[in-house]
Amino acid sequence: LQAHGTRLTGSGGQQLGALIVLNDVTRLRRLERVRSDFVANVSHELKTPITAIKGFVETLIDGGIEQPEDARRFLGIVLRQAERLNAIIEDLLQLSRIEQEAGLEGIPLEPGDIAPLLRSALQACCMQAGKETIPLRLECPESLPASINGPLLEQAVTNLVDNAVKYSPAGAEVLIRAERLDREIIIEVRDQGCGIPAKHLSRLFERFYRVDKARSRKLGGTGLGLAIVKHIVQAHGGTVSVASEPGQGSCFTIRLPDVPDRP
Ligand code: ADP
Repeated sequence: LQAHGTRLTGSGGQQLGALIVLNDVTRLRRLERVRSDFVANVSHELKTPITAIKGFVETLIDGGIEQPEDARRFLGIVLRQAERLNAIIEDLLQLSRIEQEAGLEGIPLEPGDIAPLLRSALQACCMQAGKETIPLRLECPESLPASINGPLLEQAVTNLVDNAVKYSPAGAEVLIRAERLDREIIIEVRDQGCGIPAKHLSRLFERFYRVDKARSRKLGGTGLGLAIVKHIVQAHGGTVSVASEPGQGSCFTIRLPDVPDRP
């Protein structure tokens, strides 16, 4: 609490009392901390690839360029790190665009169909899944009409399927299921991958939160995928949750209200 006080005096100079104003600044302080943590996180995330790029370019300048085989390898690393920087910045820009739009008039929602959108999200992940020999299965009615922002919702589902593939061993199936239940639309992405220990679940949707940083980086993750999913789903007036069992797999569930009641 922040307190400001003033004495109240009458016209004759006599003491009438005191006025004390108490401001609850807890929320403000928390917001400030979240903001400065975020800036620190972004800086750290950007610094890692920049340090690698600098290091390898310096090595090349200092003579590495004379060894064609090393040079090729180093340049490959530089390219991958540059792509990584690009992915982080793209994800950050997308998050801020959604935040901005949601904060103004809300993202535009239109009558659409979830079924083709899921098929398209699946196709986007097919290549990666094929490489890892992970079968993708879709259980969904022929048509599932809803009020949605198609491109954004497709991105949210793609992020979930992409993760399911990334964190699954070869051969483990990923199931995408959607249905209308009561007055909600449920979209589920279920995998039989490595799973997530319970203590991480509550923070999973925070920006840059990862269970295993090194693993996420190696798999090309930015740590922003689930934060983007959460923002998109909330902008639809819905919720996203996760249930997981280490060694058994994870299930991410998006729930969208039939009639969007948005924040
Ligand atoms: P990343 O780019 O690191 O995948 P995300 O925001 O998409 O970032 O996910 C955050 C973290 O949640 C990941 O680093 C990973 O540890 C964990 N995670 C997400 N999806 C899964 C999944 N299907 N199975 C296991 N762990 C997952």
